[in-house]
Amino acid sequence: MTDPTPRKTAIVTGSTSGIGKAIAEALAAAGCNVVVNSFSDTPADHKVAATIAAKHGVRALYVKADMSKGAECRALVERTAQAFGSVNILVNNAGIQHVAPVEDFPAEKWDAIIAINLSSAFHTIAAAIPLMKNAGGGRIVNIASAHGLVASPFKSAYVAAKHGIMGLTKTVALELAREKITCNAICPGYVLTPLVEAQIPDQMKAHNMDRETVIREVMLEKQPTREFVSVEQVAATTVFLCSDAAAQINGTHISVDGGWVAQ
Ligand code: NAD
Repeated sequence: MTDPTPRKTAIVTGSTSGIGKAIAEALAAAGCNVVVNSFSDTPADHKVAATIAAKHGVRALYVKADMSKGAECRALVERTAQAFGSVNILVNNAGIQHVAPVEDFPAEKWDAIIAINLSSAFHTIAAAIPLMKNAGGGRIVNIASAHGLVASPFKSAYVAAKHGIMGLTKTVALELAREKITCNAICPGYVLTPLVEAQIPDQMKAHNMDRETVIREVMLEKQPTREFVSVEQVAATTVFLCSDAAAQINGTHISVDGGWVAQ
């Protein structure tokens, strides 16, 4: 029997861990076929896709692509179209962080953060647009950050990249508004993922504080709720932006930050 409502195909970049993995899970739970991506190509990476497929009864494929390289970003989109026929949803999630004062910020870290957190989205979006146009519409969701709206010290590259992706989001939305393709950003506050865990030691050094004090005084101090955001909350917001109910939400962002940027 043929499926009366063909499944949508979603790519989630950087989806073997943290927020991206939760987004891939949630889109699969909503009935999408998903492409799971990272650059490492380990058995554990492939297992993420296999587990999602088994749990949700959808097709899930792991595709290795290094989001710091434009050609691999575009190849990820092309590989998805070959495997599933098209791309309906693109979630630009892959991201890295480095924490250091601007005068000591390693240039290679700057370049990597701009490439992975900003330029990758340019490449995937450019490659996905013709496919979405052919499919009669699509959804692009960029996982930005509260740092796409406000700054914090010692995060010059990350804040620059996240502010950049907010501009890209608005521009793409305007260019595609007549094509039934929306482009929006989500701006999470602190979510306790491996990315955040990894920056705690650097924050301890930069602020000369112990772990608990960094969490309380530097991280959650920004969030009026004094609670971490959960990966599931960011994932559910993504599913909403990909739903019919969000068809007229375009070129904007949803903050999921416990009130951080209201201050
Ligand atoms: P994470 O470290 O848990 O996951 C990052 C993912 O990106 C992993 O799957 C990793 O394999 C992948 N990745 C890293 N470099 C890559 C590359 N070169 N090519 C392909 N994949 C690569 O991080 P996370 O906290 O889940 O962050 C996901 C996104 O959410 C990032 O864009 C981050 O900036 C954003 N964000 C996170 C927080 C937070 O507090 N955790 C807050 C706001 C925004």
